[in-house]
Amino acid sequence: MHIGDVPVGHGHPLAVIAGPCAVESREVTLETARAVRAAGGAALRGGAFKPRSSPYTFRGMGEEGLEILAEARAVSGLPVVTEVLAPGDVEAVATVADCLQIGARNMQNYSLLDAVGEQAKPVLLKRGMSATVEELLLSAEYVLARGNRNVILCERGIRTFERYTRNTFDVNAIPLLKRLTHLPVIADPSHGTGKWYLVAPVALAAVAAGADGLLVEVHPSPDHALSDGFQSLTFDNFRALMAAVPHVARAVGRTEGVAAP
Ligand code: PEP
Ligand code: MN
Repeated sequence: MHIGDVPVGHGHPLAVIAGPCAVESREVTLETARAVRAAGGAALRGGAFKPRSSPYTFRGMGEEGLEILAEARAVSGLPVVTEVLAPGDVEAVATVADCLQIGARNMQNYSLLDAVGEQAKPVLLKRGMSATVEELLLSAEYVLARGNRNVILCERGIRTFERYTRNTFDVNAIPLLKRLTHLPVIADPSHGTGKWYLVAPVALAAVAAGADGLLVEVHPSPDHALSDGFQSLTFDNFRALMAAVPHVARAVGRTEGVAAP
């Protein structure tokens, strides 16, 4: 399957999707898109509609955010991945996005899964924070059953008793999902750890475990990010990660390299 023109999955170069947690301004989004492109990223991520645990925090720019993403694609050449929160927004989001993200909190929102299954853009389906691997696969079936066969599975960490990290990244899920399904499997070490200094080592562990790609939060000034700054990489740290990824990928026999559009 493809995100824009970028192939994703087994036998294809590793796809690194990166960008801010949220589309929070035109400047931050365009600047990040250029940096992600220059570092060798395959696609730009960024939420225009944000599922926040607290309703009193920044919930995204909505439709205006979608317009900014379209501009970021035009200036960077990167295809765009963005979250859709509600069935009624699917059409508008799919008009702009090259890939629709279903967030962890919506993994079992079955009417939303039906809605993204009925449109043609690929779907990046994140594992729910308390979902088993089987439940993730059954949620993917909802999308597939409606006729959309382009589903990318994403391990983003699960809730455990451990509190030093935001979530516990389940590296088991990567080779397990690769064994259980033909679908591409990617890793989100940003939400999987919740700490910027854990993102690169866990990203590399996921690559070593056979991930087909990464979803990484990157921000020009993480301390000032409106969401998830503590787990966002600076441009320098993202470049360092991008330099390390091909070595690990090659070491485990992924010879196709790292994708760029
Ligand atoms: C995100 O990707 O910014 C996000 C909200 O992730 P998750 O749904 O995994 O919490
Ligand atoms: Mn986030």
